[in-house]
Amino acid sequence: MNTFPQENTTNGQPVKNAGSAPVLLDVVDLKKYFHVVSGLFTRRRSTVKAVDGISLSVVKGETLGLVGESGCGKSTLGRVIARLETPTDGMILFDGNNVADIESSELRNFRKRVQLIFQDPYSSLNPRMSTGSIVGEALVIHNIAKGKERKRRVSELLKTVGLTEEQADRYPHEFSGGQRQRIGIARALSVNPDLIIADEPVSALDVSIQAQILNLLKRLQREFGLTYIFISHDLSVVGHVSDRIAVMYLGKIVELGEKSQILQTPLHPYTRALLSAVPMPDPRSKKTRIPLAGDIPSPFAPPSGCAFHPRCPFRMDICSTLEPELTQREDGHFAACHLP
Ligand code: SF4
Repeated sequence: MNTFPQENTTNGQPVKNAGSAPVLLDVVDLKKYFHVVSGLFTRRRSTVKAVDGISLSVVKGETLGLVGESGCGKSTLGRVIARLETPTDGMILFDGNNVADIESSELRNFRKRVQLIFQDPYSSLNPRMSTGSIVGEALVIHNIAKGKERKRRVSELLKTVGLTEEQADRYPHEFSGGQRQRIGIARALSVNPDLIIADEPVSALDVSIQAQILNLLKRLQREFGLTYIFISHDLSVVGHVSDRIAVMYLGKIVELGEKSQILQTPLHPYTRALLSAVPMPDPRSKKTRIPLAGDIPSPFAPPSGCAFHPRCPFRMDICSTLEPELTQREDGHFAACHLP
C-alpha cells in the first residue's frame, strides 16, 4: 500500500495522497448543483447540491472506493469526473490538465482515457446491437481499428474478460447478468483507458457472480495497470477491491483514508454505522450495531451544521450550527466531525 504525504485540512484543495506514485486525477472543490422548479401554481425554485465542494486525488494504479447511501451524490460525482455532466464549479485535473470545461475534440480525447462501467449491464447495452458491435463501436468512433483489425481486437477483448469469440455474434438478451457485465467491461477496455469509473458494477448481480466480476476487475487492473474509482453503497464490496475509501454523505466526503483505516479504525459516526450494518460471515462474532435513525435527509433542504446531525447518536450542541471541516486525524486519514 502507498504511503502518502499529507495536508492537515482540505480547505478546497485536493486531499494529497500520492507518495512516489504519480497522481492521475486531482479533483479540486468540485460542485454539481441541479436547479429544480416545482409546484403547479406557485413555481418554487430549489437547488440540489448533489456534489458540494469535493476535493480528492487518485494516484495511478490505485482503486479509490466511493461509498455512501443512495442519494449521497457518489454516482453524480463519478459522472461529473467522467464529464458526462458538466460541473457547476471546481477543477478536474486529469494528468495535470483541467478538463472541467473542455469541449468537442478535447472532450472526445478525454473520454478515450476515462471509461465508465454501469450498474445495470442490460440497460447499458443496446439490445439491437450484437456483442461484437457493442465492444467494437468505440474502436471505430475513436479511429483505433476498422475491418479485420477491429474484429481481431474484439475477439481478443472478449477472451480477456472470459467470453469466447463465437459470442461476438450474439445479442445482449442471450447472456446472463454476469456475462453482460463482462461485455460492459470489454467495451470499457476497448479504448485502452487509464481510469475506469465503475458505478455499482456488481449491485445487480448474484453474490457468487459478484465475486467473479470483482476478481476479474482486480486481474485486469494488474494486467493493464488500470486506475479505478469504484462506487458502491456496499462497504463490504468496496472494502474488497479498494486501496483507499472515501465515505460520502449528502454531497460531501465525511471520511477518507486507507482501506485499513476506514474498516478497522473508522472515525466518523456515519462510517461506523455503515460498518456496523455489514453482515458478518461468522454468526458468533459480536459487533455493536450503531443504529442509523431515519432516512438520508432531503437534498432540497439539508440540515444545518453537520448534515448528519439529525441521525447521529453522538451529536452535540455545536453539531447543529457549525459544519465540521474535513481534517486530517492521522496519516492519510481525514474525517469531518466535531468529535475529538
Ligand atoms: Fe455526529 Fe456531530 Fe460528528 Fe456530525 S459532527 S457526525 S453530528 S458528532
